[in-house]
Amino acid sequence: MSNVGTLFIVATPIGNLSDITLRALETLKDVDLIAAEDTRHSSKLLKHYNIKTPAISLHNYNETKRSQFILQQLQQGKNIALITDAGTPLISDPGYHLVKTIQENGLQVIPIPGACAAIAALSTCGLATNKFIFEGFLPAKSKQQLQRLQELMDKTETIIFYESPHRLLMTINNMLTVFGHDRYIVIAKELTKTFETIYGNTIFEVQNWLIEKPERQKGEFVILVKGTSKEAIINPEVLRILELLSKNMSHKQAVALTSEITGVNKNQLYKIFCPGPGCSDKSS
Ligand code: SAM
Repeated sequence: MSNVGTLFIVATPIGNLSDITLRALETLKDVDLIAAEDTRHSSKLLKHYNIKTPAISLHNYNETKRSQFILQQLQQGKNIALITDAGTPLISDPGYHLVKTIQENGLQVIPIPGACAAIAALSTCGLATNKFIFEGFLPAKSKQQLQRLQELMDKTETIIFYESPHRLLMTINNMLTVFGHDRYIVIAKELTKTFETIYGNTIFEVQNWLIEKPERQKGEFVILVKGTSKEAIINPEVLRILELLSKNMSHKQAVALTSEITGVNKNQLYKIFCPGPGCSDKSS
């Protein structure tokens, strides 16, 4: 196995071309072949740094086939680098199948770390960083998106999402429905680029901020959601009592009685019926 090659997973910039490490540049110059998500997109970066290494494509639609080809090349002693359009490969990007194939065949995969939008956003958003969930892209369809958000609503960790500009408003709206209008979120937009903006507020205010000036909805976004506080998580037994009572009385009465029985704050219980400002709970 001494003459086999190595696969390097190389992070590239997320906007600003200067955000690339010296080691990444050396690796991209030294390898025999670069596998790039989109060779045309990456040619700009490679040209900028005068890197003349030949490149082939590796994207979601040809990754299985390409992985076999790259494996053969590595077995013949060639060194290969994987890059994607921006940031760290495999992070909401192609490369997982390739890395798995190469490792399963006993060959070496080496990381060349660098930019990642999620980490750049997390390190500047002002939310807790000791524990976080990287969620990446939510499902594209609203119904599935709402379901996934519901599964995440009780998480106490900071949650990091990627989102495309054309789904941004729908996602913010669904977050408002599920997390309630008061949950604090941060929009990290166009990081490392000319119109870089990091804006944090309640979901309701962030929604207004985006609608107020539609140009704010353009660009690349990371959305970071503050984890819920432990006290805000309602015990399932409390929920059961509230549900049973509300079958036989108005929401207002059920909330008052549940609060008396369990000691849970009335406002917190109200939020179960009415998570946001647009809520029209008429049953009180
Ligand atoms: N692999 C990349 C990384 O390491 O961050 C992520 C690739 S994913 C296909 C692209 C998404 O990352 C965008 O839709 C956006 O949510 C986020 N993103 C990438 N560049 C960004 C930037 N400069 N500012 C904010 N978000 C960015």
